[in-house]
Amino acid sequence: MTKKILAVYPGNFDPPTNGHLDIISRASGLFAEVMVAVTNNVNKVHTFTLQEKIDLLQESANHFKNVKIVSFSGLLANYLETINSFVVIRGLRAISDFEYEFQMALMNRKLNKNIETIFLMPDQSYTFLSSSMVKEIAMLGGSTAAFVPKCVEEKLKKYIAILSKNV
Ligand code: ADP
Repeated sequence: MTKKILAVYPGNFDPPTNGHLDIISRASGLFAEVMVAVTNNVNKVHTFTLQEKIDLLQESANHFKNVKIVSFSGLLANYLETINSFVVIRGLRAISDFEYEFQMALMNRKLNKNIETIFLMPDQSYTFLSSSMVKEIAMLGGSTAAFVPKCVEEKLKKYIAILSKNV
């Protein structure tokens, strides 16, 4: 039986990278509809605002016709309930991601037994890529062109220009 599944790809996306886009592209090919659900993880310090992250994702993913960018706050399990979706997409880069992702998948299932988490592996060339690594490269004056969409590269440059003016 093939179902028309709405899948949700939640994350911090601070900022979105080509690794995130790779996962979005794979999910877009697999599911009828994909919602990229942007949040501000309470345990992390944020570089970009929720609205900035939404705008960057919208610009980078607008060629995927079945992908929508949304935001949520609070528990993912509660948010899924409100939109009546129970399929969560997460990216797995390496073994180091596994423990946290595994815990979170099982916790979400504990919170709502209908939730299934599906892990997608990015292209090998993105397995080393993270938002924090990209920010570090940008802060140290390196080029991020190979790692993020053009709009994110420009946003990072502006952010660093503002930071260096305030020093
Ligand atoms: P979170 O704080 O929710 O983990 P992130 O933006 O860091 O937010 O990651 C969101 C999801 O995207 C996670 O499942 C993460 O493993 C995945 N992800 C992040 N970077 C990559 C990448 N380079 N390739 C594949 N998946 C990635």
